[in-house]
Amino acid sequence: MRAFVYDRPTDVEQAVAAVAADPQAAFLAGGTTQLDLMKDGVWTPDRLVDITRLPLRGIMVDGQLMRVGALTSMEELAAEPAVADRLLMVREALLAGASTQLRNMATIGGNLLQRTRCRYFRDPTVSACNRRSPDSGCAAVDNHARMHAILGVDERCVALHASDVAVPLVAVDAQALVVGPQGQRHVPLTELWVRADEGPSIEHVLGHGELITAVDVPLLPAGWRSGYLKVRDRASYEFVLVSAAVAVLMDGDLIADLRIALGGVGSVPWRARQAEQMLRGTHVDPVRFEQAGRATVAGAYTLPGTAFKVDLAVATLTRQLLAMTTEATP
Ligand SMILES: Cc1cc2nc3c(=O)[nH]c(=O)nc-3n(C[C@H](O)[C@H](O)[C@H](O)COP(=O)(O)OP(=O)(O)OC[C@H]3O[C@@H](n4cnc5c(N)ncnc54)[C@H](O)[C@@H]3O)c2cc1C
Repeated sequence: MRAFVYDRPTDVEQAVAAVAADPQAAFLAGGTTQLDLMKDGVWTPDRLVDITRLPLRGIMVDGQLMRVGALTSMEELAAEPAVADRLLMVREALLAGASTQLRNMATIGGNLLQRTRCRYFRDPTVSACNRRSPDSGCAAVDNHARMHAILGVDERCVALHASDVAVPLVAVDAQALVVGPQGQRHVPLTELWVRADEGPSIEHVLGHGELITAVDVPLLPAGWRSGYLKVRDRASYEFVLVSAAVAVLMDGDLIADLRIALGGVGSVPWRARQAEQMLRGTHVDPVRFEQAGRATVAGAYTLPGTAFKVDLAVATLTRQLLAMTTEATP
């Protein structure tokens, strides 16, 4: 590992100023992604600004809104009673990620900004990676790709956004609270990440030095039901192949309202608005569920190694819709 300067500020303004002043600086939270990238030589900042002493840990529930401090760990959020009661899909997504040890270190802010797991991105001996080095090509497209995205990608980059919890958070229109050198702003999670087909080397809209301080998460009102289904190669400690976060409000066997987002398919967590429109106000019908799934993945960009994800996404969504709508029917 290369030598670097290590800062440990105790207030947000200092942390933001320290990163903003140095183009080669990066924030360090739990370090479960950042330190791997440094050890592997993928991303070697000259200065690490450790944010773990900032007062950004904890959860506040105020009526319909939950504010999650960016340094809250994945385990802490999963254990929050409001999450178990009113956002079960968030709890399920958290507990389906990584391992208990990692979830105790990993923070919510860091989880949202984790870098892609694309094996070519994470191997600096591979030179063709538009995400790492603009205009260098995409080794995944030219070689073998499997754990890669099929939506929001093209021949320039097929990197997947691998966060599980980002998927249900996108489904409920959560927002990141961000502090930067120019002040504070809210960024809806549906607008936080940049699709690879809109800019393969830009991962998110945050400027250098902008810090996520919290995530505002609307809680589902009474009567809603939600769940997260993650399909992967093995039952635990494995990244996603395809996942579906579904929240529904049922009125008998009528779907009065719903939210859907998919993981494992997009260069960003994929909100399935068209499927929501197709199903809102309709009766439980597996054929229609499948049609909504097909509409979601229509126009997918596939490679020989990722083509299986089209049918897998449709099947995963159909199964999760059935589970949520039939169990919710009295
Ligand atoms: C073996 C393994 C398995 C995993 N499996 C899964 C899985 O199945 N599902 C899943 O979702 N995740 C998985 N992960 C990813 C893991 O959840 C992330 O590494 C973790 O959430 C990152 O959080 P952190 O606090 O350690 O972030 P760090 O590693 O400290 O930071 C990650 C990035 O975010 C930036 N950053 C951190 N906090 C902030 C902030 N508040 N504002 C602005 N920038 C910030 C850092 O500069 C860095 O670029 C796995 C990781 C490992 C190592």
